[in-house]
Amino acid sequence: MDVRADVVVVGAGVIGLTVGVCLAEQGLRVQVCTRSAPSATTSAVASAMIWVRPDLVADAATRVRERVSFEEFTTLAALEGTGVATRRGRLVSRQPSPLPAGLQHCTPQELPAGFSTGFWTTLPLVDMPVYLDYLIRRLQAAGGQIEYRELHSLDELSGRAPLVVNCAGLGARELVADRTVRSLRGQHVIVDNPGLAEFFVEMPWGPAWVAYWPYAEHVVLGGIAIPDDEDPEPDLVLAEQIHQRCIEVEPRLRDARVRAHQVGLRPVRPEVRLEIEQLDGMRCVHNYGHGGSGVTLSWGCAREAVALLMR
Ligand SMILES: Cc1cc2nc3c(=O)[nH]c(=O)nc-3n(C[C@H](O)[C@H](O)[C@H](O)COP(=O)(O)OP(=O)(O)OC[C@H]3O[C@@H](n4cnc5c(N)ncnc54)[C@H](O)[C@@H]3O)c2cc1C
Repeated sequence: MDVRADVVVVGAGVIGLTVGVCLAEQGLRVQVCTRSAPSATTSAVASAMIWVRPDLVADAATRVRERVSFEEFTTLAALEGTGVATRRGRLVSRQPSPLPAGLQHCTPQELPAGFSTGFWTTLPLVDMPVYLDYLIRRLQAAGGQIEYRELHSLDELSGRAPLVVNCAGLGARELVADRTVRSLRGQHVIVDNPGLAEFFVEMPWGPAWVAYWPYAEHVVLGGIAIPDDEDPEPDLVLAEQIHQRCIEVEPRLRDARVRAHQVGLRPVRPEVRLEIEQLDGMRCVHNYGHGGSGVTLSWGCAREAVALLMR
């Protein structure tokens, strides 16, 4: 790709594609540069549940980003072909914990053995492979292009475009030498859907927790979080533990045929890096380090990144 663009977006995960869509739909000539296909990114592995924290744990900026995304995904859920659907489900905890006001609390009968509190909520769930394809179509419909290329430095983009958005996820560790970015390995088991319509998620998340998210044909079972383990191969012992924990909560999953195993590395950072930096001849906005919430934060962060870039 040698055509000069208005902006180069590095990364074709959910963060880069969402930024690319926002910029292209504003009329900019957008080139997305990625070393891997969107279907081979961490984003393709996310479950992905869109949620707004019902507590005040998150800082104000995060809460705004979550709220913006939640509204966008709720709108997308009403459209065909996006991969987004709203589903009802339970968020539960093993420890007694204060429940957010205004939500329907689980009755004792609705709490599986070992759980002491929980509530019902309705959230968008995103079938990520379908959703990433939708974003690519939307990007291309607005004139955006995708180039497959590995960058070793943002300086390689010098002369290509005056604007750059760095959405390299875990790759930012090497690309911009950010040693605060770390990997938090996740693994899913994908099974046939035996007729489940409601999700179930244990909170708070620790190294291992129970979670299942039903889609039309399949159910995604999780979850684990292992720091600094970057093994891309599924651990079949862990997979069996994931499946068993879910069966204890939902016995209908016992005979569900295993379709696939998935591994993804969450790009964690002490906080999301969303800031502007003047590089040699280029104005760059960094937008990476979204950890286990990149889909949830994607639209909010994209809108902020665009505002920073156009300032
Ligand atoms: C098991 C699991 C479950 C999850 N569940 C949820 C969930 O329920 N809800 C939620 O909101 N989030 C969830 N997440 C987190 C979410 O998946 C991530 O936060 C999100 O995908 C990060 O997106 P990204 O675009 O920053 O990174 P990625 O998807 O990793 O994309 C990075 C892009 O940058 C490109 N790149 C990197 N380096 C270079 C380079 N040097 N040159 C060129 N290109 C480069 C890559 O090729 C890729 O295209 C989950 C993650 C995992 C692993």
